[in-house]
Amino acid sequence: MGQAIDGKAVAAALRRRVAAAAADFAARAGRPAGLDVVLVGDDPASQVYVRNKARACEEAGMRGEVHRLPADTTQAELVALVRALGAREDVDGILVQLPLPKHVDEAAVLDAVDPRKDVDGFHPLNGGALLSGAPGLVPCTPLGCMRLLDHAGVALEGARAVVIGRSNIVGKPMALLLLQRNATVTVAHSRTRDLAKLCAEADVLVAAVGRARMVRGDWVKPGAAVIDVGINRGADGKLVGDVAYDEALARAAWVTPVPGGVGPMTIACLLENTLRAAWRRRGLPPGDLSL
Ligand code: NAP
Repeated sequence: MGQAIDGKAVAAALRRRVAAAAADFAARAGRPAGLDVVLVGDDPASQVYVRNKARACEEAGMRGEVHRLPADTTQAELVALVRALGAREDVDGILVQLPLPKHVDEAAVLDAVDPRKDVDGFHPLNGGALLSGAPGLVPCTPLGCMRLLDHAGVALEGARAVVIGRSNIVGKPMALLLLQRNATVTVAHSRTRDLAKLCAEADVLVAAVGRARMVRGDWVKPGAAVIDVGINRGADGKLVGDVAYDEALARAAWVTPVPGGVGPMTIACLLENTLRAAWRRRGLPPGDLSL
């Protein structure tokens, strides 16, 4: 029987460390570190996400501001706002809440974000930095997954890792982070053959698909570490992951639950990225954020 990795507790510990480092930054910089979130339109889920992000900033002693724009905002207006935030000295992090309305080219807006303030890590320069192993800002969700693996003490060097999903937000950066740590990484997707067999060879299995309980117990290698990124709404309205949690726990050494696993880490890593961006832009040595 494996153990749950308590993402809530690990995230709370990271948030405490960020709060201490944020106080140190504010004392030295003469102002709090600041995150500016841009929201276009009135999608209810996005409204909740941006509110939570801004609130988490304030709880950590940082400035968190939401810029709400109407759904018919033009691409040019949006790019102008993102550029203006890029030019402001007191803005350390810029986050454009996705998805954007269909008439806006998402890539054009993300390209306009100052890469030094790109706390989501979605700018092509940060993607390139991750690919080449240079310093940069790393997407929050895969960063959170790495923190959870490290917290559980999972050995990555030489481990066989399988990442299911190849999105730019989760799957691809996750694979690169595991590779950076010397795991042997396979990326699976919707065209992968014999997925169950492939997964059953993984010492580290990361599921980032968006299909409820797709990963069954017999897909899990005994003693593996299983990171469940998926967030799905079950028939009963409850949140479930991509992994059949009970079945996986019976075989794995470690499994992240949903909710309470990867989710809380994403927002904690957003705060960490904002603070790191603030330190780096001022040329100051970053505070110690290790867990
Ligand atoms: P996405 O962009 O929809 O990507 C899903 C990936 O899964 C794609 O690469 C797709 O393959 C692959 N896939 C789909 N069906 C498959 C199948 N039957 N077998 C194998 N692979 C399959 O999703 P995402 O943005 O990466 O998000 C993935 C999940 O994580 C979602 O549930 C999302 O809600 C959740 N999420 C959670 C957090 C968090 O904070 N916890 C953050 C972000 C996302 P193709 O490329 O071949 O289509």
